[in-house]
Order: sequence, then structure tokens, then C-alpha cells
Amino acid sequence: MDTPDTIYAEVIIDITAGELDRSFSYRVPEELVGTLRPGMVVQVPFGKGNRIKKGYCISLSGESHCEEDKIKEILGLATEEETTEGRLVDMASWMKETYGSTMIQALKTVLPIREKVSRQQKRYIVLSGTREEARALLQELSGNRCKARRRLLEAVLQSEDGRISCSEAVKELGAGRKMLEFFEERGILKIQEEENLRNPLSTEQQGIQTEERKELTSGQKKTVQEILSEWGKPSPRPVLIHGVTGSGKTEVYMELIRHVIEEGKQAIVLIPEISLTYQTVSRFCRQFGDRVSVQNSRLSPGERYDQFLRARRGEISVMVGPRSALFTPFENLGLIVMDEEHETAYKSEHSPRYHARDVAIHLAGREGAHVVLGSATPSLESFTKALEGEYLLTELPARYEGRELPVVSVVDLRRELKNGNRSILSRELGKEMEDRLIKGEQTMLFLNRRGYAGFVSCRSCGEVMECPHCAVSLSEHQGGRLVCHYCGYETAKPLKCPQCGSAYIGGFKAGTQQVQQVVGKMFPKARILRMDSDTTRNKGSYESILSAFARREADILIGTQMIVKGHDFPGVTLVGVIAADLSLKDSDYRSAERTYQLLTQAAGRAGRGERQGKAVFQTYHPEHYSIRTAAAQDYAGFYREEISFRRMMDYPPAAHMMAVLASCREEERLSLAMEYLALYVRKLSRDGQTVIIGPAPAAVSKIKDIYHQVLYLKNKDMKVLSALRRNLDRYVEINSGFRGIYIQYDMQ
Ligand code: ADP
Ligand code: ZN
Ligand code: ZN
Repeated sequence: MDTPDTIYAEVIIDITAGELDRSFSYRVPEELVGTLRPGMVVQVPFGKGNRIKKGYCISLSGESHCEEDKIKEILGLATEEETTEGRLVDMASWMKETYGSTMIQALKTVLPIREKVSRQQKRYIVLSGTREEARALLQELSGNRCKARRRLLEAVLQSEDGRISCSEAVKELGAGRKMLEFFEERGILKIQEEENLRNPLSTEQQGIQTEERKELTSGQKKTVQEILSEWGKPSPRPVLIHGVTGSGKTEVYMELIRHVIEEGKQAIVLIPEISLTYQTVSRFCRQFGDRVSVQNSRLSPGERYDQFLRARRGEISVMVGPRSALFTPFENLGLIVMDEEHETAYKSEHSPRYHARDVAIHLAGREGAHVVLGSATPSLESFTKALEGEYLLTELPARYEGRELPVVSVVDLRRELKNGNRSILSRELGKEMEDRLIKGEQTMLFLNRRGYAGFVSCRSCGEVMECPHCAVSLSEHQGGRLVCHYCGYETAKPLKCPQCGSAYIGGFKAGTQQVQQVVGKMFPKARILRMDSDTTRNKGSYESILSAFARREADILIGTQMIVKGHDFPGVTLVGVIAADLSLKDSDYRSAERTYQLLTQAAGRAGRGERQGKAVFQTYHPEHYSIRTAAAQDYAGFYREEISFRRMMDYPPAAHMMAVLASCREEERLSLAMEYLALYVRKLSRDGQTVIIGPAPAAVSKIKDIYHQVLYLKNKDMKVLSALRRNLDRYVEINSGFRGIYIQYDMQ
């Protein structure tokens, strides 16, 4: 049998109420089998009285979770047309299938949730009669008693849009209920209520002077031309702009957006949250005026919902925001731009763990829109696709106005130690900092740390303890154990370096506070700012530290990766990377890629102004290709080395990898369940095509008393992994041993 006898549909009645978990099963009538898809609006009998209600079909299956005789049948389609919500439901259904989440999790990701509180109404006083009538009345109102009435009527007549807000009338004109009644009775004025959709842009940004469009450079024009001619083809591909920092990628995006708007379409511009600064948003406002809106995590759910309404009403044409901005319900989407496409922030950390890039491409395909990805350091995934012709590749190799890229110097920390310098600042970096202080120029010191348990290395020869199977660094755990977070390999922490015998081996830790102390001691007169998760805990502190530094209220800014993104600091002529190894020896197969990206970005911060900048990379591994190629600003060189590593180890993009993430309060139960899961996968994949790694403790193996373990599956074919995932889901569901164990998937 190809198709089951009966098809059931899950239907949600009120999709914006936040009660997405309440879906109901209905039988699909024969005439709708084959037509009905998730996202369609149907009419169903509902409740005891079988009142007819509209609902959204969210999924279809051959089983229902209701008793057969209680199930009602769908009456029919409520509309043949696609609705905005329907399109989003369809997206959710695709995300559920692709990333392996529940439908509810997927729906909660894509659908904006209406607020429970009643929406803000703004009240205005407007003319209800003609201007002539109003003026005639004004003439009649003479004498002292009528002074206040005259003031009110004059204010309305003189206002720009023929109305004044009630609050203003009360506060500034002393208008009361009585006075309004006087005008209402005469049919001159009335109250008008309007839904007040909040605008997240600051008043300054809303009123910002729009700017003439900039004349593009010949390189930028060429890129725009290449993209437009791709768009002219019958099935245009996504575009990858590989352009160095400061080459004017943003100018190119804006030119493309202009094209799209001229065609009456809308654009979504994705920017990693951390770069969504006042500066960037203002740039879009200057070009597109009040057709722009933004999304960010600081908006309340209500504010976010309002932006969706504004988009749907056609009040805006450009939505700038982080990955969630993808779900803006534009009527006629023409373009999705994804700036800094390599950023890890584009991957969701919650189920469904979607990557905004894949979703953007899927969404664009569905809506007939274009996708433009941009980066100075493209992800291995995207660059590989571009080389293979799946994406169009276009390059912007020069900075605007030929401003020079910084000079980079690599300092070998092993040699520093040999020469008796145990400080975390090398002599070269110290000397350069002193020079900047004398000249009154600014310095940034950067710690590319990622909160995880650290690796163990030798400070004499630089040797790092690695997993013999996975080619990633081992992480130090309690009790002197070293653990691999991919395969679970464990070994005792050595007392001496296995390479050179030195006893100077240990966990590599360096914090921003520590750096601040050292710098403070070395340069007691320098004004120092520090920026890390401690100093940015309060709302607004992130912006205030950066803008204080931009105003040159400090000489030195010390911080984690949050300092190297977004902002332009023309006063910075020196960037120091304290230990490039911090990210290089992270226990992750992407650590070399991330290091290349971070170092390139960090160096790119130096010399954005008139003067050429300098960057100093301190490291124990000056010979490592990530560091060498980042110093030489040689992306192609980096890509060649890195892709061969991925191919050798079958890491993405050479193969696909699926992480099965499991968590539980009881460690032993979790371990046992994971062993069973691994066994089951082995049984399913007897052909040997799927590589099974682990189970192992996750990179963060215990959070708030909950244990986390992970099992990795690798296969060249994503479809095989997806099929395995569906089997695992069923296995977990029917086996009581998995109760209390929460399982999620991460597709890479
Ligand atoms: P990217 O996005 O590639 O880092 P930007 O678009 O931010 O580069 O450009 C860097 C700087 O150069 C910005 O200040 C921008 O305004 C300026 N710029 C780039 N292209 C032009 C142009 N064609 N005309 C005027 N200024 C430009
Ligand atoms: Zn050693
Ligand atoms: Zn391993």
C-alpha cells in the first residue's frame, strides 16, 4: 500500500495566541487528500456545539492521537489563497523536517506571538467638520471665557496633519472632557483612536536626514552588475560576496535593496546581533528613511509583534535584524541579505537548531526572492558551494579609497619565555603600546576566549594535548582528566610535556581582568576600559563602553570577541591579540576556521582612519596555517589548508554531521541510554557508511545539575542522517528507558 487509508491533519485554531501546543486532530476528507498542505486555512467543526471555526493545518499524518469515533472531519478549505501565517506554518513544517524538532518548537520559532495585554491605543483630536466651519466657530468664540476653547481649536487647525494627540491637548492646552463635548456637540471636533504600533528606532533615527545615494566605486559597480545579471537568469543562484572589511559590501547591499524596492518588493537584512549597532542601523535609515525597521533581542514581544504588523500592512520595506528577522511576513519579499554570513550567531542554539543561511535560501526559493551572502571570511560551507558553482562568487578585494590593510606581526610566545619574559604582554606588543600612548592613539587588546573548559599546553614548546582520533584539543576536567568532546577518549593530565619534557605544562587560562592588571601596572597613566560578560551585564553598558572608547575617553580597550565586531574606531592604530591559541585550541573541529575569522576581524579594526594600522598576534603556534594566513590576509591560502583537513577527517562540509544531544538529571541513566542509542544506530547502519563517534560528555557537560552527553554521526548524505533521526525518534518514544531523557538534534 502506498498511501494509508485515512489521513489526519493537526489543526490549530488560534495561531497568534501563544497556545501553539493546543492542536486538534481532524480527518481529511477524500477530496482534500493530496491538496491539503501544512499552512492552509481550513474550516472545522469545533467544540461541543460544533461551531464552524477557521484553523491552520500544521501537519499531516497517517495516525491521529485521538479515538477514531471522536474525530471530526475537516469541512473544507477556508480560502484557496495563501495567507501570510500559512506561509510561515509551511516554513515551520520544513524546519521541523530538516532540523528534527517538534512542530510546536518550529511554530514558536517562526510565528510572532501576539501580546496578551491589550494593545496601546493612541487617541487624537481631529476635525470632524470642514475647515471653514471650524474657522467660523473660531470667530464666534470671543471673550475671556472662551480663551481655552479657542486655543484648542487653533491648535488643531494649525497642526500639520489636522490632529493633535489627546495627551498633548490635556497637558499643554488644558482641554478637558467638557470642552471636548462642546466641540463634539457642534460637529467640529471628535476623538479618533488609532492603534499605536511601536517603532523601535530612536526618535533621532526616525527623523534622520536621508542621504544622497553614494556613487559606487568601479569595483562595487562591477559586483552589482554581476549580481543583477545573475538575477536576470531563469533560476538565479544565491550570491556570495567575498569582500575585505571596509570594501563597501554594505554600500552594495543598499544598491541592491534599492533595485528591489523599485520593483515594489521588500528586503530582509540579516546582521549578527552583536553588530546591530546604532551606527549600522542609522546607515540604513539614512538611505531608506522611515521604510526601515529593526528587530533585536532587546525588543519586547509586543514591540516585535508590532514590527510584523507594520511589515504586513506594507508600512516598511526593509527589515534589519538578527536571524529571527527572517520570519518577517512581507507580502512580496524580493531579497534576503546576510551580512557576515560566517557568524556562528546565525545558528540557533534552541530546537529547531536551524541555520539562518539554509532557511534564507529555502525561503527565498519559495517566495521567488534572491539571497546575497557577504563576508570577508566566508564559512567553509559557503565558499565550497561558491567554488562548486552552487552559489555565484563575486569578489571585492580592495578597501574603499585604497585604504591600506594593517601590517601584521606574529610574536612567538615560546621565544618570549626563553628570553625570560613571563608576562602575558610580549616585548614587541608592549613597545608598540607605549608608542601609541605617546602619540595619543588608541589600542585594542583582544582575548579570543570562548567560555569553555580550557585545553592543556606546554608553555615551553607549545605542544597541546589532542585527541588521537579526532584531531581536536582535549579539555581539562575535574580530577586531572583530559577528555575529548567528540569521541569520549580520556587520559590523565601529564605532569611533563610528552614532547619536550618540560614541567611547565598546564591549563591555559587568561582572563580580561588579568590582562587589565598587567597593563595597568605597566602603564599606570593609561586610561583603560574593559569589556567582557562581567562589564556588560547591564542593559546599555555594551553601547556605553564602546561609545566612550569611540569618543576617545580611554587609551586602551581590553575585551573578548565582542570588541572586534561592528564599531568603527578611527583612533585605533594598534590591535593586540593576547593569545591566538585560545580559540585555535578550542575542542571543536571548527576552531581553526574561527581563529582565522577572529584574527582577520581583529586586524581589520586597526587603521580604519587615515593612518595605517598595525596588529600583533601573540601565539605559541606561529607556524599554524590559521595564524600564518590570517597575518597575510590570505583567505584562499587558509581555505586550501582547512578544506583538506576537513576532507581528511570527514568533517563538514566534506561530510554531514548530526549531533544527538541528550540531557538528564541522572548521569548513570544518561550514560546507559546513550550506549543503547549508539548500539541501535550501529545496527541500523550496517553498511558502514555512517561513522559513529562517542557517546561523550558534551563540551559543557553539566549545567545546573543536568548532565549533557552527545553522540555524533557522520555521513556524506544528509538524507541518510535524516532517516536515522526519524528512526531514533521512534526508538526513544517507545522505549521506557529514555523517560526523563531529553533529546535534541543538531544537523551540521
Ligand atoms: P564593509 O561592509 O565591506 O565592511 P562598508 O560598506 O562599511 O564596508 O564601507 C567602509 C567605509 O567606506 C564606510 O564608511 C563607507 O561609507 C565607505 N564607502 C564604501 N564605499 C563607498 C562609496 N562608494 N562611496 C562613499 N563611501 C563609501
Ligand atoms: Zn613541551
Ligand atoms: Zn576524540
